[in-house]
Amino acid sequence: MTTRIGVIGLQGDVEEHAIALEKTLAERGALGEVVKIKHRGLVSSCDALVIPGGESTTIGRLMEREHIISEVKVAVEDHAIPILGTCAGMVLLAKEGDEEVAKTGQPLLGLMDVKVKRNAFGRQRESFEIMLPMRIFEEPFPAVFIRAPAITHAAERVEVLATFGELIVAAQQRNVIALSFHPELTDDRRIHHYFLDLVEYAE
Ligand code: GLN
Repeated sequence: MTTRIGVIGLQGDVEEHAIALEKTLAERGALGEVVKIKHRGLVSSCDALVIPGGESTTIGRLMEREHIISEVKVAVEDHAIPILGTCAGMVLLAKEGDEEVAKTGQPLLGLMDVKVKRNAFGRQRESFEIMLPMRIFEEPFPAVFIRAPAITHAAERVEVLATFGELIVAAQQRNVIALSFHPELTDDRRIHHYFLDLVEYAE
């Protein structure tokens, strides 16, 4: 059985995710392929989806223009396909955004019952790395934050996987995972493995 993982490939760190996923598949000895989704018609053939970091406004608008948003919603809501959103991807997965998100009028997919703050760490802390304790791992995860968003409110059915101060920086709602940080920029592939575990259990 070949696992087909679609990375929304319109803008942002698409290549980094594709490489991390390929390495993760190889480490698991799993048959699989990574496809970059740039237009409609590909989502429904994927077993898992990733929305990378980048500019959520740009990615959202391009997804809208290419008519990918509704395809992703059907795959995730109706077919329970696992989806991972990192950084800008977290913003896009959310049901609600802060004033900054509202101002840009960017489309949100609304796949996770959370409210996000788009630039949650302010200008002074544009980018930083911390060893982040996460509920799903015994050892902390090297988390790289770049102009990162965070979750400020989450519905009860959302499982909080990690917090930083008052903010939620990793969360899961069944088949939907949202991260403020960029696991694809480190060599630690535990999150990608955790994500592909969801795909295997779903099969
Ligand atoms: N704050 C950015 C946005 O919402 C995300 C930054 C990133 O993905 N590194 O678009």
